[in-house]
Amino acid sequence: MGKRTEPVVNIKAIEASWVWQMQGACRGKDSALFYYDDNERGDNKENKTATAKAICGTCKVKQECLAFALQINERYGIWGGTTPEERESIKRREYRQRAKAQP
Ligand code: SF4
Repeated sequence: MGKRTEPVVNIKAIEASWVWQMQGACRGKDSALFYYDDNERGDNKENKTATAKAICGTCKVKQECLAFALQINERYGIWGGTTPEERESIKRREYRQRAKAQP
């Protein structure tokens, strides 16, 4: 067996993919603010969403967070200042744009 010259796992690439999470404005906050039950409705849901979005609005890694949520198809919670419904809308819009760009 030959001597291995490349690492089996690229630690730097893996670290770069999650290190932004350490810088989120939500770090240390109650995660319940960012998630609501499927059957939660009305003021409670709206208040949670508004509070979470306000925190996201101050977050310096908001773009990375949103990109990650879109990439992994995150179906729950507020990520990158968006609700699951808003992320679905973004994905549909991106899909339509890609479809239009096809010859
Ligand atoms: S954008 Fe919002 S959910 Fe994402 S890391 Fe920042 S504060 Fe947390």
